[in-house]
Amino acid sequence: MYTKATQLKDIFEAAAYPLSSDDEKFLTEVCQFSEAAHADQKRKSGEPYITHSLNVAKILAEIGMDEKTIAAGLLHDVPEDTAVTLEEVAEKFGEEVAYLVDGVTKLGKIKLRGSKEEYYLENLRKMFMAMAQDIRVVIIKLADRLHNMRTLEHLPPEKQARIARETMEIYAPIANRLGIGEIKGELEDTCFMYLDPEHYEETKRLQETYLHEGQAYMERIVSLFSKTLKDAKIQVIDMQGRTKDLYRLYQKLKNHDMNINRVYDLVAIRIVVPEIADCYEALGIIHREYRPMVGRIKDYISLPKPNGYQSLHTTIFGPEGRIIEVQIRTQKMHDEAEYGIAAHWMYTERERPGWRSFFQRPKAAALKGARPKELTWVSQLKEWQKEIGRDDKEFIEGLKIEFFKNHIFAFTPKGDIIDLPEEATPIDFAYAIHSEIGHRAMGAKADGKMVPLDYHIQNAQVIEILTSKEKKKPSRDWLNFVKTSSAKSHIRRELRNSEFQK
Ligand code: MN
Repeated sequence: MYTKATQLKDIFEAAAYPLSSDDEKFLTEVCQFSEAAHADQKRKSGEPYITHSLNVAKILAEIGMDEKTIAAGLLHDVPEDTAVTLEEVAEKFGEEVAYLVDGVTKLGKIKLRGSKEEYYLENLRKMFMAMAQDIRVVIIKLADRLHNMRTLEHLPPEKQARIARETMEIYAPIANRLGIGEIKGELEDTCFMYLDPEHYEETKRLQETYLHEGQAYMERIVSLFSKTLKDAKIQVIDMQGRTKDLYRLYQKLKNHDMNINRVYDLVAIRIVVPEIADCYEALGIIHREYRPMVGRIKDYISLPKPNGYQSLHTTIFGPEGRIIEVQIRTQKMHDEAEYGIAAHWMYTERERPGWRSFFQRPKAAALKGARPKELTWVSQLKEWQKEIGRDDKEFIEGLKIEFFKNHIFAFTPKGDIIDLPEEATPIDFAYAIHSEIGHRAMGAKADGKMVPLDYHIQNAQVIEILTSKEKKKPSRDWLNFVKTSSAKSHIRRELRNSEFQK
């Protein structure tokens, strides 16, 4: 049952990135502060509100975030939902923590222009990245959403559906892009359960029936593979067997008339070896023993996926002719790519569906001492942010987020988002809102300061257009600097019209 002490202790124990005793002292203070602020609030489940903050913080600790991010997780709902202000948070716990909390609060407040659903979703997805001038803000938001999904049963059904749809369409893809596969899988499976309960149950039943004897089969494969690789003198660090995440499995089943016997990678074996050379060698040995399926060999070591994922994949005809997917990778790839920053998860005793280790797990304590440097995802992120400050464009490029390239996102004073090409000007912005605002534009402010009309809008700026009360025609000069074709054509048409009227 809920006790604060246990929960805070849980956070410290769960931390993939070791926390010093100073960090622990700091987080204890933060937690007391947050608990006092939320004192009279309860979750829909009836639990004290702080349970939510603690759980969000715990998820952040588990995926290896630093103490400031964990602190912001504990405080993330404080300015929005309590009488405590952001200034007080800054005063007590520093600017950086306050900055993160503010980012999460702002992210929750963004309004979206337009009512069409696809437009809304696309905008939200882009906005999410645009607003996230610090990636940690997005990660806190993901942790927040994950805990809200885990406790969604306490909300009324319409709310459940809306939140699950939004999670499936926005949060899960972002988790995927960030390489946090564990969060993505859990978000998708939970959403699936709420959005399509019938197929969820059917998929679960199919998987259970199929795997009834599957577990024993998987164990047999693991011992066969172990012997084969051992004979070839390849050291195996770990071998895991997996059944597919339910939502991913359902996607495949849909393409095969819900016939589970036609899904190839239902059973997957993952082999972790020390070096890259061992990966290729192990692949060769497996192929010598078991016939590979043509066209199913994928080398994501030479050609990593856009989110950085690396592994060798192959599909083979295993014993009894059953089809097995095999994934081979190094420990480092395993920690980074599959678990993103969530490298820790595979070592915890937490019961998780899916992958199950057939080898002894290293003790968490041993891991803590030995491994922090290898959580490169986090350190790389920190490096990027140090190097580039909070410049979105370079930052996003670093994350290889394609859709964000050559785009900027500006905001109206009311928080609506306007999607613009790079080097777009206030005139482009004005026409993107409404042609009449474009025609009447006289001046502009960016983040509250006056800027010229040919100013290049920066990402995530708030742009205010000053308009003339009287009817006014656009200036021909504008054609020299506007970037969007829609602004150009509006200006040309209006100039032509006003000439005719003379
Ligand atoms: Mn929250």
